[in-house]
Amino acid sequence: MENFAIVIHGGAGTILKDSMSPQLEQQYIAKLNEALKAGYDVLAKGGTSMDAVVASIKVMEDSPLFNAGKGSVFNHEGKNEMDASIMDGKTLNAGAVAGVHTIKNPIVGARAVMEKSPHVMLTGDGADKFAKEQGLQVEDPKYFYDEKRWQQLQQIKKQEKITLDHSSDTTGWVHPKDAEFIHDKKFGTVGCVALDKYGNLAAGTSTGGMTNKKWGRVGDSPIIGAGTYANNKTCAVSCTGHGEYFIRNVVAYDVSAMMEYKGMTLEQATSEVVMKKLKAQGGEGGLIAIDAKGNIAMPFNTAGMYRAYMKKDGKSEVKIYNE
Ligand code: ASP
Repeated sequence: MENFAIVIHGGAGTILKDSMSPQLEQQYIAKLNEALKAGYDVLAKGGTSMDAVVASIKVMEDSPLFNAGKGSVFNHEGKNEMDASIMDGKTLNAGAVAGVHTIKNPIVGARAVMEKSPHVMLTGDGADKFAKEQGLQVEDPKYFYDEKRWQQLQQIKKQEKITLDHSSDTTGWVHPKDAEFIHDKKFGTVGCVALDKYGNLAAGTSTGGMTNKKWGRVGDSPIIGAGTYANNKTCAVSCTGHGEYFIRNVVAYDVSAMMEYKGMTLEQATSEVVMKKLKAQGGEGGLIAIDAKGNIAMPFNTAGMYRAYMKKDGKSEVKIYNE
């Protein structure tokens, strides 16, 4: 039997054991296992890595525990505005949606853009319209509401005002480091990378972005090369963290490029980007990656990252903290 494996993440950030109740921890572990299993079953039955990535991500999008799909964070106007992307390592074909409000599973929207349109990325109302025309499941924006996320927005808005009062920053942008939610700093986002029995890699990422974002801000998650990348020659990568840093550093593609041009291993390339380049700039976050041989890497430079993998033989691990 050919090799196959799947890796998922549910976001990185200040995730500390001390501030997590045992019940909530169990909920996260159970949901991560469910998402992992959904993708693993696709692969075990001979399905493609693209199908596995969508299956895993859908489970996490449907759960309010993660900042993607239902339970996405709120933007400054109190709306959920979601981004997602997917890439096929075999064909190098890719699709993405950004700033969407009604697509139940933005990862499915991203795949539809790839397969049913001549484009790579669609945004806002146009993307929502496209999804509807394609017969994808759409929901009233109320479906995505989560009370906890709403309270997070209120808290951050309050803090923003206070911070601006004492800040020379006239852009209105407050670095998350300065925000009150410092104790609960968690970049949501979910992602999945997979290797199927046919040796094909795929990567996908889905997010609600960052709480209190303004002006149609879009992070790295729907940007091919930044938040998501897959190439059978090298690896598949899905990122989570402070998107602006991941865009500027073209993180997902950088991992692939270092493997292709410098002959680095997956372990070396991912660690170089996350633990050296990003860390030196204060770019917080992490990524999951898998190469064509089924090697796996899950580095992060934050306190924690929801992450899990399952290999062909069923061996799996689910982790949250820095352990
Ligand atoms: N990278 C995402 C963004 O900047 C956030 C996250 O990973 O949680 O939109």
